[in-house]
Amino acid sequence: MKGLVYRGTKQVAVEEVPDARIVDAGDAVIRLTTSNICGSDLHMYEGRTSVEQGKVLGHENMGVVEEVGPGAQFVKVGDRVSVPFNVGCGSCRNCTSGWSSFCTRMNPTEGMDGAAYGYAGMGPYDGGQAEFLRVPHADFNLLNLPQGNDFENDFTMLSDIFPTGWHGVQLSGMQPGDRVAVFGGGPVGLMAAYSAMLCGASEVYVVDRVADRLKLAGSIGATGIDLSAGDAVEQILDKTGGHGVDRGVEAVGFQAHDGAGEEHPELTLDNLVNVVRTTGGIGVIGVYVPTDPGLDEPTKADRVGWQYGTFFTKGQSMGTGQAPVKRYNRALRDLIIAGRATPSFIVSHEIALEAAPDAYDKFDRRVDGYTKVLLKPHG
Ligand code: NAD
Ligand code: ZN
Repeated sequence: MKGLVYRGTKQVAVEEVPDARIVDAGDAVIRLTTSNICGSDLHMYEGRTSVEQGKVLGHENMGVVEEVGPGAQFVKVGDRVSVPFNVGCGSCRNCTSGWSSFCTRMNPTEGMDGAAYGYAGMGPYDGGQAEFLRVPHADFNLLNLPQGNDFENDFTMLSDIFPTGWHGVQLSGMQPGDRVAVFGGGPVGLMAAYSAMLCGASEVYVVDRVADRLKLAGSIGATGIDLSAGDAVEQILDKTGGHGVDRGVEAVGFQAHDGAGEEHPELTLDNLVNVVRTTGGIGVIGVYVPTDPGLDEPTKADRVGWQYGTFFTKGQSMGTGQAPVKRYNRALRDLIIAGRATPSFIVSHEIALEAAPDAYDKFDRRVDGYTKVLLKPHG
C-alpha cells in the first residue's frame, strides 16, 4: 500500500510501505477515507523530534473498517469510524479513569506513558497518512459514526483537534460567561476558541500573526489579536479595560516565536500568566518536549524559564498534556450530527495522498491560506 514516510528534516515522501494488517486478536484494519495533516506533524517535519526515518506519519484518521481480528467483539467490517490519535489499552489505570492519552501499557518507550499513531516517541504504531491503518484494541479505541459520507470533513476533526481544543478549555477551568484568550490561531487554537464559544464564553481572543487564521477566528465571533501589531498582552488588556481574561489556552507549543520570527519557548506561557487574572486558569495543549534535536544542547528544551513566580503570586492554575480524545469525542460527534457544531470551517485544502509532500511544505510555511489540509487516500 502507499503511505507518507518521514525521510529527514523537511523531507517526506509517498512510498510503497508494508500493508497494514491484523497483528493482535483485538486489532482492526481501517480503509482511510480522510487523514489530516496536523501542526504536531510539523515538529517532526522540521527535524525537532526524535522520529525515526521510514515512519509512516498521520494520527488524525477516519475511515471504514476493512478487517477485524478474531478478538474484536463489537467492531464490524463496514463500520464507519473515527480513530482517536491516542492508542489505549482500555484497561490500565489511566485508560479506565478517562486518561487514554496516558495509557500505561501501549508505549514501550522507557518512562513514557501514552501512545499515538505515526508520532515521535509514542510507540511503534504507523500512521494513517496512508491507504490503510492498523488499530489495536479496536473495540475500545474506535468511535462509531453514522454510515455514508455526511459530515465527513466535520467528523475528521474528532480524531484530534476538536477534542484537543475542547480539552484545552476544560483544563483552563472555563465557566460560562468567562473571557478567554487563546494563544495560537492554528487549527488547534481555532478549535479551542470554537469550543470556548460553544461552552458559553462571553468573549474569546485569538492571538496569531497569520492574517487568514485571524480572519477565521473572526468568522466564529472571536476577536483576532495580531501579534505583529504589538504586544498581545497589552492589546487584550486594552480591550478588557485592564482586567485581562479569566482563562487562557496555550495552542502554540515550544516553537512559539516573536514578531520577528525568533523562537522563544517561554513566550506564550509568560503572555498567559500576565493576561489571565488572579486565580484564573490556563490550559496548555501546545506541545513541549524534553529533548529537541534542533538545539545545540537537545536537553535544554526540557528547561523552559517562564514567569513561574508571577504564576504562583497570582494563584493561577495550569493543566497540560496530550488530550484524552475518548473523553470528549462521542459528545462532540453528537453536536456535529445535531447541527450544533461545524468544525470543518477551518478546512482549507482537500487533496490526494500523492500531493501531501507539497502540502507539508506549504502548511509548514503557513502560506496560501494553508490552515487545515485533509488527505483523501482513496480519492
Ligand atoms: P500550527 O503550527 O498550524 O499553529 C500554531 C500557530 O501558532 C501558528 O499559526 C503560528 O503563527 C502561531 N504562533 C507562533 N508563535 C506564536 C505566539 N508567540 N503567539 C501566538 N501565536 C503564535 O499548529 P496546530 O495544528 O494548530 O497545533 C498547535 C499546537 O498544538 C502544536 O504544538 C501541536 O503539536 C499541538 N497539539 C497538541 C495536541 C494535544 O493533544 N495536546 C494535539 C494536537 C496538536
Ligand atoms: Zn494532530
